[in-house]
Amino acid sequence: MILRIKLVLKLKGLGLWGAGRESFEADTITYKIRLKDGREIPAIPGSYVKGLLRGWSYKLAPLLSRAEIISSRINAECFAGATCGRCVICQIFGASGGGLPPLSVTNFYPVTADKLAQAAKLRPEELTSRPDLIDQPRLSYSPHVRIEDSSGNAAKGGLYMLETVPPRTLFYGEVALQKHLLNGVKPGDAYLLILLAISQLRFSYAGRRSRVEVRILPESDLKDALSDKRCAEVLGRLMMK
Ligand SMILES: [Zn+2]
Repeated sequence: MILRIKLVLKLKGLGLWGAGRESFEADTITYKIRLKDGREIPAIPGSYVKGLLRGWSYKLAPLLSRAEIISSRINAECFAGATCGRCVICQIFGASGGGLPPLSVTNFYPVTADKLAQAAKLRPEELTSRPDLIDQPRLSYSPHVRIEDSSGNAAKGGLYMLETVPPRTLFYGEVALQKHLLNGVKPGDAYLLILLAISQLRFSYAGRRSRVEVRILPESDLKDALSDKRCAEVLGRLMMK
C-alpha cells in the first residue's frame, strides 16, 4: 500500500534551484533536466524538496509529541547532518547507511495550468517522455554585483548572472510513502507529520529566495490518510478545489 500525495507548487516570486553558495561570485543557473526530445527544462530536485520536508518534520515532531498527538519516538539530538537511525524522522525519511526509506519525493516538473489535470493522471517521472504536457517557462537572466563587506564597494570581478524561473510557474511532483517500510512507526503518525510538513512549505524558502504556494491534487491516492481524522483536517485545507 502506497500513499501518493500529488503536489503542485506555484512560484510566488522568481525561482532558482541552483547548486553552490549564494555568495559565490559566479554565474548561477537553475537546476534542469533533459527531456527525451532533447529540450532542457527547469525542475525542482526531489532531493531538495525531501530535505525541506525533513527539516520541517524535525521542528514539528517534538511539538506533536509534547501535545500527545503522535506517540512515535522522538530524538532531539538527531539532525540531517548526523542521523540517529532510530527516531520517527529517520524511520520515515531514512538515515545514512540505512536501507530504502518509506518516503520518496520525485522531481517537480513545470506544467501549464490548462494541462495540469492531464499531467496529474501520470506519475511525475512519466512526464519526461511526455514533452507535450511539460511547460517551458521563459527563464530570465539578471546581473548581480557582489559587494565587499569590508569596503562596501563592488568586488573586483564580482559581476555575475542569476538565471531564474518566472513567478506563477507551476511545478508538479509527488511525495510517496510506502507503508510496509514504516517498521515501528504508526502510519497515522507518519501521514500527519508528512502532511503538516507539506503545509509548512508555504512558510519557508522552497529554493533560493523562492517562495511557493502548495496544493494537493485530487488525483492523489490518500485513502488511508483520509480515514484518519487528524489527517483529514489538514488535507481539507491543502486540497486543490
Ligand atoms: Zn533520527
